[in-house]
Amino acid sequence: MFVLSIVIAYSCNNAEGSASEQREKYVLVVHGGAGTITRQNMTPEREAQYRSGLEAALLAGYQIIQDGGDALDAVEAAVRILEDDSLFNAGKGAVFTNDGRNELDASIMYGKNRMAGSVAGVTIIKNPITAARAVMEKSEHVMLAGRGAELFAMAQNIDTVPPSYFRTEPRWRGLQRSLRNDSLRMQNQTAVITPDPDRKFGTVGCVARDKNGNLAAGTSTGGMNNKKYGRIGDAPIIGAGTFADNNTVAVSCTGWGEFYIRNVVAYDVSALMEYKNMPLSDAASAVIKKVGDAGGNGGLIALDKNGNMAMPFNTEGMYRGAITESGKMEIYFYKD
Ligand code: ASP
Repeated sequence: MFVLSIVIAYSCNNAEGSASEQREKYVLVVHGGAGTITRQNMTPEREAQYRSGLEAALLAGYQIIQDGGDALDAVEAAVRILEDDSLFNAGKGAVFTNDGRNELDASIMYGKNRMAGSVAGVTIIKNPITAARAVMEKSEHVMLAGRGAELFAMAQNIDTVPPSYFRTEPRWRGLQRSLRNDSLRMQNQTAVITPDPDRKFGTVGCVARDKNGNLAAGTSTGGMNNKKYGRIGDAPIIGAGTFADNNTVAVSCTGWGEFYIRNVVAYDVSALMEYKNMPLSDAASAVIKKVGDAGGNGGLIALDKNGNMAMPFNTEGMYRGAITESGKMEIYFYKD
């Protein structure tokens, strides 16, 4: 089951329209980021770790949906597990900013009523996805940032941690490499500058469809390694990194956030389906192509109102997995 061929993934992606009656519906899809994910720079141990992280998230969300629970609860539960797993660039294990901090972004949206919540640039909230949900359900706002978001989360009794909780050594070393590269660039020693291996992504996200046909989407990230000046990416921006509408689709994105913001990626998938009547796989692929044509890279996961899923990306790989209503699980890392 592990790392099934992408051919199988594509055939799953295309199982739409009339075929949908004969096949199982997908109920939950997760991603753990897109980027330079190749067989050459993986070890069997690392593959096993990523696999078990994605599996744990899929199972936690699946259990909720199987028990008749809501897509929103399933998304929150799955994303929390990935936030707690230090392998992924969200919650513990987030990348560092240029000045050595972890600043986290997250958002969640409920397709039933198109309510949404997000937090941006937070530094002490253990599970930003839970804070984003609280913004949606317990405030009159959609997006809270920085200290205000943290004060709001504390007022809601959401778990906070010292900023050092998020620190991991691999991410810290990643920042140090980027800083060295920056300083070489400033000295104009272009010949010795290596491509930044730490520019890879690693955001997490989940889309789910429950037994009542409700869709939900959530995304959580530490953003991009070495980010500066309070940079905020697409993950907490509704319509860019996250979108859900019961009439169309739930989408969670990962990739170079600036391109996702400018192309309003998550909403664009929904808009193509709504206004052009495109099937999910066509809409999702068209939007990722647009990101690539503009010079951006990354991917997305999407689940439509009929339980079809798509997970296109234009990077070397994307950590991703899906589970159907019978509990059949698929996990993929690579392009081929
Ligand atoms: N989209 C995220 C950002 O730009 C990064 C990622 O997906 O890994 O902040």
